[in-house]
Formats: sequence, C-alpha cells, structure tokens
Amino acid sequence: MWTQFLESLGEKCTGSEFDNWIAPIKVIECTAECITLEVPNIFVQEYLLDNYKKDLANFFPEVKFVIAQAQKKIVAPVEAPTPTSTEQMLKLNPQYIFPNFIEGPANQFVKSAAMGVATRPGRSYNPLFIHGGVGLGKTHLLHAIGHHIREHHKKVRIQCITTEAFINDLVDNLRNKSVDKMKKFYRSLDVLLVDDIQFLQNRINFEEEFCNTFETLINQSKQIVVTSDKPPGQLKLSERMVARMEWGLVAHIGVPDFETRVAILQHKAEQKGLRLPQKISYFIAERIFNNIRQLEGALNRLTAYSRLMGLDVTEEIVEKTLGELFQSAPQKKVCVDNILKSVATIYEVKVNDLKSTSRSKSVAFPRQVAMYLAKELINDSLMKLASAFGGKTHSTLLHAWKKISLQIEKDETLRRQIQMAKRNLEN
Ligand code: ADP
Ligand code: MG
Repeated sequence: MWTQFLESLGEKCTGSEFDNWIAPIKVIECTAECITLEVPNIFVQEYLLDNYKKDLANFFPEVKFVIAQAQKKIVAPVEAPTPTSTEQMLKLNPQYIFPNFIEGPANQFVKSAAMGVATRPGRSYNPLFIHGGVGLGKTHLLHAIGHHIREHHKKVRIQCITTEAFINDLVDNLRNKSVDKMKKFYRSLDVLLVDDIQFLQNRINFEEEFCNTFETLINQSKQIVVTSDKPPGQLKLSERMVARMEWGLVAHIGVPDFETRVAILQHKAEQKGLRLPQKISYFIAERIFNNIRQLEGALNRLTAYSRLMGLDVTEEIVEKTLGELFQSAPQKKVCVDNILKSVATIYEVKVNDLKSTSRSKSVAFPRQVAMYLAKELINDSLMKLASAFGGKTHSTLLHAWKKISLQIEKDETLRRQIQMAKRNLEN
C-alpha cells in the first residue's frame, strides 16, 4: 500500500523534495485500518500532513506517526568527497570566541542560545537564526559556536561560510560541472554555519539549492545556524525558505546598553594592554552607542595615538582623536511614552486611548502612527515595544508599521505629521 501511495505521489513532488521529505519515512506497521509511519522528526510529519493529507486518506483510513528515537550514527561517506574551493580549512576569526563576548541585557538571550547549540549541536535549537543590526556581534557568535564545537566535538564535520561565498562556490561548481560534488560535501556536514543570509535575497536560483541543502541537513538533525540583518519574515525570500528559517529558534541581538558598552571597552582595552581610565570609557560609551565595531575602531585609534605620542589617555586626547566619530552624539533616547505623548498632541487624542484596545478610527490610526515611530526610532524587540502599547502583540505592531510605511509613500499630510512628531521628539 505504501509503495502504491509513493507511486501516486510521482508527479506531485520534485526529486529533491522526495529525497528530503518522503524517502526518510519508514513504515512500521500496516493493517487494513491503520498505517504507522516512523519519521525522523516532527517537521517531516507536518510536511506530509500539510501537503498530502488527502492523498494519504485515499490509501489509509488512519495514519499514526512515531518519531525516530535513536539518532543515526554519523557514517563517514565511503568515498571521501574531494575538497571544493570552500572546503579548505575552516576559517574562524581566532578572536571571536565565547570568552571574548561580553554579555548584557540586549544579547544575553542570544548568547545562551548560541552556547546551547555549541554544547549540543543538532539537539537544542535547530536552526538557530540570529538577527540584528550591523556590528552587534552576529559573526562573533557564529564563529564562537564554530570554535567551541571544533574544540569539544573533534569528529564533527563543520563548515562556516558567508552566504556570498556559498553562492560563489555554487557558481564555480556550476561552471566546472562539479555541482554534485559540492552537494555531496555540504550534505555530508554535521554543522553548517551561514553568515549574512540576507545576501540570498533576489538570488532565486541559489535560494532553491540552499533550501534543499538546508532541508537535507535538518532532517538528519544536523545543526544549522544562520545570521541575518533582519528577522526571517522581513527577508525577501520564498515562503518556503522563510518557514524553514522560523522552524527553530529566532533570536534577536540588540544594541548594547551603556553598562555593556563600558564593559566591552574595558575588556578590549585590557586585551590591547591599553590603560583606559574608567571615566574615559564612560566618556566614549556615552558618545558611541549603536555599533560595537565602531566602539572597537575608536579604541584602536586611541591606542595607536597614545602609543605613537607616548601619552596617557585623557579626555582631551579622546576628543582630539575621536571627535569626528562623536558628531552624531550624544543623542537623547527616545522611548515609547514620549512617542505616545507626541502623537497624542498631534492627533488630539489621549495617551490612555492610544494604549487602550479601542478600535474607533480616531484612535486606531494615531496608534498605528505611534507604533510605526516606535519601530523606526527605538532599537528594541518588537515584543517589548508592542507591550509598551498597553500589551499589544508584536504582529499588531508589525502590521501597523507595514501599513504606515506604505501609506507614507503617497500621503503628503501623513508624511508631514510624522516629521512633526519626530521633531517633537528631538526637542
Ligand atoms: P556583525 O556580524 O553583527 O556585523 P561582528 O560580529 O562582526 O558584528 O562584531 C563587530 C565587532 O564587535 C567584532 O570585532 C566583535 O568581536 C565585536 N563584538 C560584538 N559584540 C561583542 C560583544 N558582546 N562583546 C565583545 N565584542 C563584541
Ligand atoms: Mg557579520
């Protein structure tokens, strides 16, 4: 019966879909009333039910699933795949290790998730999807996972690659007609670390190959970690790809708060052997606030200057060497409450109404404007922002943001109102 069922799928699913999803399913028991299938994980079960529920029902009155318990031992491929251009040594930045990663409220969660994955690859969160702005430590964490696994799980086959390198590799292999080798290599990995997945946007041909590799690995409980500058839902990728990215754990890495910035400065200064008085690290941390790479750059410049001139670091020297980095600072911190006040004034409504659940248009629209501003101006998780609006959900906030973003394009009045609110907030 199962074979007949598989044959009936023939035209409906592609070869790779079949290999990734259907082939790993095993029949445990089959009676006239019920078939019991063993699946490698819950995703395969969901896949089958999402796509072939009707077909299944035609063959079997009842379907039961069991999830395979024992994980298959990783069997070394008989014929070791010859190295592809990317396969050379695993390249990890030696500085990007866990002990060098300073924790704070904005990155604690994502750090523990990364540690979890590094300690039990393939068995905690899979995939782990790390997203956040530029220079906030995504690559650092990705490499830290790599270092840790390499050190503690010697036999594990691991690859860390930027999305661009993956694409280039694929292009090379297509040219040399060696795609099969490349596929074999990637699909034989135990851990795949992928940096900057946003570069897969608008590369449809590559997206499919990536997605197939991804599915093959995940269905064998191989660990995948992905970094991105946006959450999965905001990436311009196929629904299939976005869904895969959201399967495991999506973790946000935020802008570090003042104390964390100070701690990072001190840690890095110590590593460089630079004597950095606490007052000076406060001074710098107050003026460079949304990017750790800049913070590091500032410290490098300062170190070079003080060494060359043989001078101790003083506030004066900091101003002199880093002045231009400070131009945009210090900025006042915008908070949801101030946004609510500002919007309430402009639209002549009450702050409490904006926080309420009222759906009357006179309140709902200004509320959406305020949500839009919150997402634009405050670098915080959507969940946290949304809850500051009297406990709304992050999808409500995202919806409001999308709606207003679109409307701004064509609505001059709205554009002016939003500018007015922004100016209000600056003063
Ligand atoms: P991203 O990949 O998010 O753009 P990176 O991982 O390249 O950022 O980080 C930029 C720089 O900042 C790196 O040199 C990294 O070591 C450093 N860095 C980022 N986060 C931290 C942290 N929490 N503690 C210490 N250094 C950090
Ligand atoms: Mg990076």
